[in-house]
Amino acid sequence: MNTKNFGTLYIVATPIGNLKDITLRALEVLQSVDLIAAEDTRQSKKLLDNYCIKTPLISLHEHNEEFRSKLILEKLAENKNIALISDAGTPLISDPGYQLVTIAQAAQHKIVPIPGPCAAIAALSVSGLPTDRFVFEGFLPAKATQRRQKLEKLKSETRSIIFYESIHRILESLLTMIGVFGANRMAVYARELTKMYETIQSGTLQEIYDFVENNSQQRKGEIVLIVHGVEEAVTDTEELDMERILKILTAELPGSQAVDLTVKIFNNRISRKKLYSAMLQSKKANDDRS
Ligand code: SAM
Repeated sequence: MNTKNFGTLYIVATPIGNLKDITLRALEVLQSVDLIAAEDTRQSKKLLDNYCIKTPLISLHEHNEEFRSKLILEKLAENKNIALISDAGTPLISDPGYQLVTIAQAAQHKIVPIPGPCAAIAALSVSGLPTDRFVFEGFLPAKATQRRQKLEKLKSETRSIIFYESIHRILESLLTMIGVFGANRMAVYARELTKMYETIQSGTLQEIYDFVENNSQQRKGEIVLIVHGVEEAVTDTEELDMERILKILTAELPGSQAVDLTVKIFNNRISRKKLYSAMLQSKKANDDRS
């Protein structure tokens, strides 16, 4: 690839709330480039002012991306270095920049990532949900029917599923998720990460719904919601373990509590309904024997 005499396009991650979450390299690049393309120049100016960076800004947002990208391409061809930033986090991750990167790549310009914050990864890292395999879904469709259809397609997803969600739709989305994934599916609600009212709440979808509904403070700010993937089918050995644990717990506790605990011990991998009827059957068999 011949990148001689061309400027470099830097894709620079910026903080998702706490202004201190910016890398030394990001500051160095933002200071040294000829131009910064920003989603909202007024918003980015606050960040740049905080670090006394005086580099000129131009806007690049979803409504002018095509036109602006061409202009940026011309500047790169004139050997100017350009940085792309968004309002928060990593550009292109539910943010503008895709068109710019694809046309800059097609024109064989050098594109350099300056990694840093991303709300999805920050939330995943503290979620306690499996991190070895995950899928990023970004924002669900705004319309209720399309949102449900999208969730239906994800019903059998085995990886952890990361969603960005607007505060105005969180309760509605949680209700639809309860309908599609089931009330007992484990999830994590991560709000206002890196900010003063940071909240990380894990529980079943129903527990998270109740938490948000009963706490008006939780209906403000920015949210990442991560849903546990569906578990792979239980093995025969696990099935035997499950029966044994259920038997021990049923001897000590009320039946429904024993069932709830067994479901929890096995990370919701078996339906409560199925386990409950198994418990009733084994109780009946015991009663018949005695
Ligand atoms: N590019 C950004 C990134 O790297 O995370 C995401 C931009 S997207 C337009 C904004 C969405 O990201 C918010 O609606 C919210 O879902 C999530 N988000 C951004 N900042 C967040 C924060 N501090 N805490 C929780 N979620 C956040």
